[in-house]
Amino acid sequence: MRDVVIIGSGCAGLTAAIYTARANLKPLVIEGVETGGQLSLTTLVENFPGFPDGVQGPELIEQMKKQAARFGAEFKSGEVVRADASRRPFQLTIAREEVQTRILIIASGASARWLGIEGERSLIGKGVSSCATCDGAFFRNQRVMVVGGGDTAMEEALFLTRFASRVDLVHRRDQFRASKIMLDRARRNEKIHFTLDTVVDEIRDPARGEVSGVTLRNVISGERWDEEVSAVFVAIGHVPNSSLFRGQLDMDTDGYLITHDAVRTNVTGVFACGDVQDRVFRQAVTAAGSGCMAAIMAERLLEAEHG
Ligand code: NDP
Repeated sequence: MRDVVIIGSGCAGLTAAIYTARANLKPLVIEGVETGGQLSLTTLVENFPGFPDGVQGPELIEQMKKQAARFGAEFKSGEVVRADASRRPFQLTIAREEVQTRILIIASGASARWLGIEGERSLIGKGVSSCATCDGAFFRNQRVMVVGGGDTAMEEALFLTRFASRVDLVHRRDQFRASKIMLDRARRNEKIHFTLDTVVDEIRDPARGEVSGVTLRNVISGERWDEEVSAVFVAIGHVPNSSLFRGQLDMDTDGYLITHDAVRTNVTGVFACGDVQDRVFRQAVTAAGSGCMAAIMAERLLEAEHG
């Protein structure tokens, strides 16, 4: 029987681990499939406070992990395949192992939705990105592309105009999910060029280890052509990793866990932090902040229950 189990080893989960470990609760962190979360998919992080010269995402995660381990956090690789949050202690199944815990902190994140096209996977972090805030500044005075037609795509395109010489926004339809205000703002920006009814078929050049261009296809005419760009920002939505808790915890229609007082779910003893409950900010520092909140709330609940 554990006091605290944390699902997820990104920024939110590791910060929750640091705080609960320092509170002597010996947390167990289940690392999950995308160990280290989205930070481990990026390169240089320039907006995490305390690093004036930036820090590599994977290194930041490694340091957080060491910090948590130093205070007694334990780590288990693997994925939770079943979770029963209906009664305390909560019961988790990891491969064939069962773990029981008084407190469950869900920090399982949200995974960026990718296009699933040739060249994409191997160029993630090398010009293919799901986060303009993280990677936009690397493409100063270069031509970049954004894929998507929602608010995130508009926001990413607008943000990128601060750095890029030209931003091509490619969307598969001629209608947008984006709100009118965001769409109008993007349309008014002369650096942003819209290419509609068009999909990206391929990203080049994995052999060079960088993005040199894309092949586009008009879905109506079938015409295919190449464009030279230095980066492709995929903004086609995120999928919160909450499916284990469907029917057990309150979530919105897109699967984001609904929290009260920042990190409390509708079940006493279950807290959620980071991107699995945050569709707005999705930053490393906000994930870390909510991980801290979940840990402090967890500690207070245990103290109130057991003294
Ligand atoms: P959305 O689901 O709103 O939009 C996703 C976009 O990606 C759609 O245009 C969709 O096209 C397209 N898409 C999905 N899958 C593919 C694919 N396989 N290939 C090509 N295109 C694809 O996601 P967002 O992340 O933009 O927004 C999520 C939520 O967050 C929304 O509620 C949004 O309003 C909110 N948000 C608000 C912001 C703000 O207010 N400042 C900023 C960012 C997000 P199609 O339309 O054809 O389905």
